[in-house]
Amino acid sequence: MIIHVPSTARNFSISASRGKQRVVVLGSGWGGYEILRGIDKKRWDVTIISPNTYFNFTPLLASCAVGTLEFRCAIEPVRRYTPQVTYFQAWCDEIGKYAMPATRLPSESANTITPIDVTHHPRGGIPFSMRYDKLIISVGAYSQTFNVPGVKEYALFLKDVKDARRIRSRILECFEQANQPTLSDIERRNLLHFCIVGGGPTGVEFAAELHDLLHGEVKEHYPSLARLAKITMYDVAPSILGMFDKSLVKYTENILTREGVSILTNRHVERVEPGKMIVKGQGEVPFGLLVWSTGLAPNPLISAIKEVQKDGKNSSLVTNNHLNVIMEDGRPNPDVWAIGDAGKIQERPLPATAQVANQKAKYIVKKLNKLAKEQESPEPFAFHNQGSLAYIGNWKAIYDGPGTEEGKFMSKEKGRLAWLLWRSAYFTMTLSWRNKILVPTYW
Ligand SMILES: Cc1cc2nc3c(=O)[nH]c(=O)nc-3n(C[C@H](O)[C@H](O)[C@H](O)COP(=O)(O)OP(=O)(O)OC[C@H]3O[C@@H](n4cnc5c(N)ncnc54)[C@H](O)[C@@H]3O)c2cc1C
Repeated sequence: MIIHVPSTARNFSISASRGKQRVVVLGSGWGGYEILRGIDKKRWDVTIISPNTYFNFTPLLASCAVGTLEFRCAIEPVRRYTPQVTYFQAWCDEIGKYAMPATRLPSESANTITPIDVTHHPRGGIPFSMRYDKLIISVGAYSQTFNVPGVKEYALFLKDVKDARRIRSRILECFEQANQPTLSDIERRNLLHFCIVGGGPTGVEFAAELHDLLHGEVKEHYPSLARLAKITMYDVAPSILGMFDKSLVKYTENILTREGVSILTNRHVERVEPGKMIVKGQGEVPFGLLVWSTGLAPNPLISAIKEVQKDGKNSSLVTNNHLNVIMEDGRPNPDVWAIGDAGKIQERPLPATAQVANQKAKYIVKKLNKLAKEQESPEPFAFHNQGSLAYIGNWKAIYDGPGTEEGKFMSKEKGRLAWLLWRSAYFTMTLSWRNKILVPTYW
């Protein structure tokens, strides 16, 4: 692996501690951070590489974006686990063909020692290489833009706590600008038009949280402006929340519409320009804030990796049901695993969710901890579907249970009870004691 470090740093060689094999983890998200938490750090020499010095608790980002929760409620620092593990703030750009095990002596190594990974520091720097014995690829995915012109420049995404911060500032900016005495009512309405493109769970939850903000604090602090504010959600599909049960989708659409959120389906955004977007068949739509949430695009690292099998859209690495990546010749690589949004099981593709990423990471942790004790773990990965939840505003949520496929009782829940489930699920999943206290306090 070659890693760029800041130019002030010297190029150095990184070798594994004596007697321990090196596990390199790429990414500090739902997959990577769970590996970090669970892995036996006494038996493995663990290195984590991620441009983020923290883990993002993504289900709480929408709440952070509107100020219901503080930003620190949605993050956990990677440095909590140092010095037991080594952390480099860097991007991995490439994983080469020949991986040289870190603990192998130079005389034992393969003839062709090519760089196995290429990474760079977020602010540039000198590349450096790293060897591994075991590699876990958990770099997630990027936000999809479908190459719609202007999206990257003029829309905001919601993928990271930094995005939530930008969105929150922009909402406040819109209200302060709209409050200027020189503006006409039309200019005010345009500034206070909050558009969301993408009707998946992220888009819906953000619309719901924004709705709560507009009907709560905004009404109190900007009484004359609150009536001019409007939320519109656009989706190219015929309905929102495609992965949820139809009855729950209908319920959500009714609730959101009743609360004043416009849902415009079968709409294709052609272009985004400063302060407006062009929608096919509708024309120009002015906005003050545009949040773009139309699914996942491949991580450039996944696109760059060669000699391994990838799924049709080139967006994730194909794995067997032990989560090992599969080489081009069809053999699984016993030392390399892909989890989370970056990996897809060949036999049974699973949705790109935190639930799946977290369970896959727990499976790898178990495997590695057994391996360190020279024990076998022949069981394949089994996903235990706990259902899907989405907050839909005004203390209501929807819950789509696992269904009969898993042999469990079909369960669907909506309204206040589902909201209680939503809050208790995310409270339970909150990782540190600090956040177990902070999150309910802010709620
Ligand atoms: C706003 C939002 C809300 C969500 N809500 C839910 C929910 O309620 N329930 C649910 O199940 N799922 C939810 N999801 C989906 C869930 O967050 C993802 O499926 C999950 O994060 C995937 O985990 P991961 O570890 O694969 O990737 P991520 O969590 O995205 O982590 C990827 C990590 O890799 C790092 N990285 C990226 N590129 C590189 C590189 N080249 N080299 C090294 N490191 C790299 C990143 O910085 C990051 O640390 C939500 C997603 C979003 C955006």
